[in-house]
Amino acid sequence: MSLKEQLENLRQTSLQEIQKVVDLDALNQIRVEVLGKKGPITEVLRGMRNLSNEERPKVGAFANEIKSDLAEAIETRKAELEAKKAAAQLAHETLDVTLPGQSIKKGTPHVLTQVIDDLEDLFVGMGYQVVAGYEVEDERHNFEMLNMPANHPARDMQDTFYITNDLLMRTHMSPNEARDLENHDFKNGPIKMISPGRVYRRDTDDATHSHQFYQMEGQVIDKNITMADLKGTLEYTIHHIFGEDRDLRFRPSYFPFTEPSVEVDISCFRCDGKGCNVCKQTGWIEVLGAGMTHPNVLKAGGVDADVYGGFAFGLGIDRFAMLKYGVDDIRNFYLNDVRFLNQFTQEG
Ligand SMILES: [Zn+2]
Repeated sequence: MSLKEQLENLRQTSLQEIQKVVDLDALNQIRVEVLGKKGPITEVLRGMRNLSNEERPKVGAFANEIKSDLAEAIETRKAELEAKKAAAQLAHETLDVTLPGQSIKKGTPHVLTQVIDDLEDLFVGMGYQVVAGYEVEDERHNFEMLNMPANHPARDMQDTFYITNDLLMRTHMSPNEARDLENHDFKNGPIKMISPGRVYRRDTDDATHSHQFYQMEGQVIDKNITMADLKGTLEYTIHHIFGEDRDLRFRPSYFPFTEPSVEVDISCFRCDGKGCNVCKQTGWIEVLGAGMTHPNVLKAGGVDADVYGGFAFGLGIDRFAMLKYGVDDIRNFYLNDVRFLNQFTQEG
């Protein structure tokens, strides 16, 4: 086989290899092998020294032609493979902007927080201030200033979590009323305050009892406040929470910090007073306790009981929420089962 034929063979086999190759690394390998100094073309050209002076430049020119042909073929193939690679990458990374986005799940206030927020809005609208207070209280504010001295039987009404002999987990929100009386200056106007918050009792948890629950206390102290003011305020509140059709009933009761004291019932919203299992067939549901602030409480707070007077009321936030939404077990509020909580999801 002549040198020319050998070169022609090389061209054909190399071109076939270049066409067959499918990735850029392999193509680069072929380039090094075919066109490099140790490649077959260089090898063939070594045989040129045996050629005549006439033939030598022709074969040299032919070899160069083949070299540049192969280099060109490699470049073309390289461009093809790069284009293919880019197309594959684009297809893989395609983003469909018309697909719906992933919605982010928003949190929502707990149902008890919703009831508290609603009551706060209502009372702030009537000119009340919202007071927070302390979850750890002293005996003086939790009991003594509320007309429950050390040996008062009323202290037995509440089983208390004591921290020290004097400090305890507040058993009701009334200490904030005592603190407000203590700190208030009537030059700045009357006392109109509410105080919603968490309270603690040594109760065994069951469907209607929890060792921690939420209460809201409120009081108004000024000159010439009567029980009619109390009834009007509670009526407005009850109508807001349970609907305009509810009737209110005051029953005489006893609390140490009010005199007279009343239990407040509303006409049953389930049976409209006819009798059902929600109202235990009475037609009425007990919703809160209230009364006219006891003079001893005013005096303990440094308020002149001959000049000032007023009313106080306390309600159970959990009880309101249970009645309003028909929840039959108070523990549901504290288990944080999302299947329960999701029923009270607020939109927006
Ligand atoms: Zn009923």
